[in-house]
Amino acid sequence: MQISRRRFLASAGALGATATASVLAQPVRPLPFLITTQSDALLPKASGKRVVICGGGWGGVSAARHLKKNNPGIEVVLLERNPLFFSCPMSNKWLVDVVDTNYLTWSYLDVASKYDYRFIQTEVLAFERDRKRVITAQGHVDYDYLIVAAGIRYNYEAWFGDDRRAAEYTRARYPAAYIPNAEHFVLKAGIQGFKGGDLVMTLPPPPHRCPPSPYERACLIASLFKQNKVKGKIILLDPKDSPKPITEGFQEAFSTLYRDQITYVPKAVIQEVDPFNKRIRTTAGDFRFDHSILMAPHQAGDMAWKAGAIGRNAEGRLTGWAAVDPLFLNLREDRDVYVIGDAVGIVSPQFSFYPKAGHVANAHARIVARYIADRVAGKAPKAALPDNLCFMMVNTAPREDIAVRFRYHLDDQGVIIQEQIDDNLRRDDLVSEDFQWASRMYEDMFG
Ligand SMILES: Cc1cc2nc3c(=O)[nH]c(=O)nc-3n(C[C@H](O)[C@H](O)[C@H](O)COP(=O)(O)OP(=O)(O)OC[C@H]3O[C@@H](n4cnc5c(N)ncnc54)[C@H](O)[C@@H]3O)c2cc1C
Repeated sequence: MQISRRRFLASAGALGATATASVLAQPVRPLPFLITTQSDALLPKASGKRVVICGGGWGGVSAARHLKKNNPGIEVVLLERNPLFFSCPMSNKWLVDVVDTNYLTWSYLDVASKYDYRFIQTEVLAFERDRKRVITAQGHVDYDYLIVAAGIRYNYEAWFGDDRRAAEYTRARYPAAYIPNAEHFVLKAGIQGFKGGDLVMTLPPPPHRCPPSPYERACLIASLFKQNKVKGKIILLDPKDSPKPITEGFQEAFSTLYRDQITYVPKAVIQEVDPFNKRIRTTAGDFRFDHSILMAPHQAGDMAWKAGAIGRNAEGRLTGWAAVDPLFLNLREDRDVYVIGDAVGIVSPQFSFYPKAGHVANAHARIVARYIADRVAGKAPKAALPDNLCFMMVNTAPREDIAVRFRYHLDDQGVIIQEQIDDNLRRDDLVSEDFQWASRMYEDMFG
């Protein structure tokens, strides 16, 4: 039967009227379906156990992969604000073109689909721990277990109080580049375009992210200046009395390789930073700079604060770091909330903090993934400790590294004890080990 033009129009009109009627019957939504707000449920209720991981850095990505490996039946949701993973480890080498941007960058979407977990790019805004709920910019997600892998924040308040303009100016012009990744590009352009003069680096007081990495950065920038014959001096303002860890390895590099490029200033505790007039006052004297890498003190990342995970000291003041059970890495008052990686606070009276390293964050992730798998299976988790291994490139012509290893064990009292082994002799075989280490880590996180 042929449909006449008149009959077609009539039936199309009837269909339109039905569709309009059904749309009108729906509750009125102010926004299209996929534009959500914080009060919407971002995901339906989980059918089994759901682990939500907040933060897709070294700790979070490692946790997602190992949770699925240990327990494929578990639902894993990774919440991260950045669209791509950008690695801080190896980024000092990227600053001076030893590796390229591809070497540091990984796709969250690819790895999530490969290991069958869900990646959601969103800002985590708040936690309702009593309801086991995370609030994100796009809606809320309920969890059975929560892993907070928050990384660090800069405590600019210690320098500038509530002067937000000074903090923003500092971050935009003289970034520390200790948080990926916009800052890294500003820093790279700054040092590669540096024409000469004084480049001042302020080191944060301990504990801070990757303790030996500021010294590695100074060495690599110095090697760039040397190579490009830039008449620049790097002035390292260190609140400590000597470089730590790998003290002799760095001191030797400063005095023999970079005598004309690096001035190391110990016991330089920051008293005042004036980014607008390029002036810094310290306990070791006052300094002016032509360019600077201004590293404010570090604290646990914002999500650890929002999760209510920050501990208090004996005087009742906030410590800036998450208070966790040293062995099980969960909040003492909330066993279903784990904190891993750099955000973790004091774990031992002997050495206080684990080194804030990607290697440790990865080890924490594996350990917590095992704890959760055991708990889901109804078993009591058995305590495990991380290790740490860190390579630092101090020379690019020829390429040479130094290294440090940390091992941990429990003493008779159940206290975590740290053993530190510095490898101070710079040499090329450590460079190969450095790249092998990075490959192993990337393989573990991204496959
Ligand atoms: C220059 C440099 C060199 C380093 N070299 C080494 C090395 O050689 N070896 C080594 O082991 N370690 C090294 N590190 C240290 C290493 O980068 C960190 O220890 C590691 O990244 C810590 O992992 P994490 O998961 O705790 O934090 P991160 O890797 O920082 O992950 C935190 C994540 O949380 C996300 N996030 C934060 N807030 C929110 C929010 N509100 N909503 C959504 N997402 C959020 C962030 O975007 C980030 O992806 C180096 C660091 C630097 C800066």
